Amino acid sequence: MSDKDKKKGDAPEFPEQVTGMYILAHALKNVGLDCMYGVCGIPVTGLSYLCQEYGVRYIGFRFEQQAGMAAATHGYLTKTPGLLLTVSSLGFMNGLTATVNATVNCYPMIQISGSSAREPVDMDQGGYEDLDQLNVAKPLVKAAYRVNKLEDLPIAVARAYRAAVSGRPGGVYLDVVETMLSETVDRDVAEKWLFKPVDPCPAMIPSAESADRAVDMLANAKRPAILLGKGAAYAQVDEKIKTLIESSGIPFYPMSMAKGLMPDNHPLSALSCRSTIMEKADVVMLVGARLNWLLERGHGKWNPEGKFIQLDIDPVEMDRNRPIAAPVIGDLDSSLSLILEKLKGRKLAMDADWVPGLQKETKEKNAEFARRLAEHAKDRPMTHWTALGAMKPILEKNPDVIIVNEGANTLDDTRDTIDMFLPRHRIDCATWAIMGLGMGSCVGAAIATGKSVVAIEGDSAFGFSGMDFATICRFHLPVTVVVFNNGGIYNGIGVNLSHNGDPAPTTLDIDAHYEKIGEAFGAKGYYVTTPEELSAALTEAIASKKPNFIHVQLAADSGKQSGHIGYLNPEPLQNIIV
Ligand code: ADP
Ligand code: MG
Repeated sequence: MSDKDKKKGDAPEFPEQVTGMYILAHALKNVGLDCMYGVCGIPVTGLSYLCQEYGVRYIGFRFEQQAGMAAATHGYLTKTPGLLLTVSSLGFMNGLTATVNATVNCYPMIQISGSSAREPVDMDQGGYEDLDQLNVAKPLVKAAYRVNKLEDLPIAVARAYRAAVSGRPGGVYLDVVETMLSETVDRDVAEKWLFKPVDPCPAMIPSAESADRAVDMLANAKRPAILLGKGAAYAQVDEKIKTLIESSGIPFYPMSMAKGLMPDNHPLSALSCRSTIMEKADVVMLVGARLNWLLERGHGKWNPEGKFIQLDIDPVEMDRNRPIAAPVIGDLDSSLSLILEKLKGRKLAMDADWVPGLQKETKEKNAEFARRLAEHAKDRPMTHWTALGAMKPILEKNPDVIIVNEGANTLDDTRDTIDMFLPRHRIDCATWAIMGLGMGSCVGAAIATGKSVVAIEGDSAFGFSGMDFATICRFHLPVTVVVFNNGGIYNGIGVNLSHNGDPAPTTLDIDAHYEKIGEAFGAKGYYVTTPEELSAALTEAIASKKPNFIHVQLAADSGKQSGHIGYLNPEPLQNIIV
């Protein structure tokens, strides 16, 4: 309006004002973060609405921890940070468990949490939902920042992004103070603060010397093996890994979430020969895998004369448990490029009978495994093996379905039974061996990739996240949740030592009808008691591309304590829990 058009009495014109929430939403968009998982409430409800308005997709959950599992899975599958939005105090704490788990697993994610006004927190005056969230988060996550000033918001988002994805990926906490979120500033001023960070995940080039050392060791090995971890799957260097393995002819062993990075049935797969690899290999090349508990103790014994090459982005990972003879520090893309170049034309000293020996063992073990599945096909009520035997051919016919898997026996037996053929198609309990990642991971996987998901869940594991099946339904995601109900933690036959008739500590609900949880939210529910019914239900469910819920009734005595890791569970008395 020009001065001339203004009538007497018109309100004076002010520059357009924007809030902290506006700046934050735009800063996220600016770094390319356009999907957020969360549970809104005070003080971030307005932020969730603004994010939607400005094109950041908002996926609302029932439980912050599950929203966090979704964000973590999103980060793992896309190599960009997944976003989690939480409210102050308990919402923050609920979400933090997932952010910490992401940090342990090296998945990039950013938890943005509203926090209450600073002064009453610092003075311990009993403010609304008061908690010093920054200092709670700080020791547990990769990086943590608190934003008190509007102009710091774009800087904070850029730093959080860099911290989450660069170097070893992890979880980052971003604390946004309620009073700052609602502050206002001229729009023109705010626009000038916004910027796009340059090269937020820079390449980390390994030294030529470290690559030479690794290549020499590999070339001179008699019984070499390549151990692939979820860091290798995360790095999205699928072609380079394939070239390394196929051009060298060195056998590989995938850790759980690296299954499918190379097809499980590849002629060089030593998936069925874990003990032989550990006991006999003279050089093991770790690619994005850590020598932690999963590769020690009850999980086998390494050849005392064996040596390790380790390709990792984090220098501090070297010599963590065992001396690493050839550390190669760099991002896997750069490290593998260099190693492939240096391996070209090198003659390998590998024993001629190493791979044929592993292939013979694989054939024998696989035949034995098939015999076991066939033997259990007639179990009624069904056991884990009956159910998995029925699911195996269907899932293997649909290799592009992402599998989410948790439980004790349900986890171990599924991992052993279902072959994987594509990278990043298996999400599970990972490094901490946690329970309670199910529904959130299903949502994150389906949203991040647009693919169909099948969750294979123990009945106990499902209970941790079950309510967020509602989120799967609300967003019409192509997710089928399969619950293996054997009526308890490990199984449903815990010996009852109570003096008052209370159920045993490990006993849950063998007679429950979990499929009705699916039906309650509009999904198709199936209750199956035979492998034929399970096959039919799973086939129909995957084809529907809609939310489905399959309750698989198992025998209460199917499954043993802690699955494959019973040795970690001290028992009060022998033979109490079978
Ligand atoms: P697994 O449980 O499958 O053995 P881990 O989570 O223990 O896998 O190990 C993953 C490793 O991969 C971590 O040490 C991490 O630092 C490393 N890593 C993650 N991303 C990259 C990358 N882009 N380049 C190199 N190493 C990476
Ligand atoms: Mg169970």
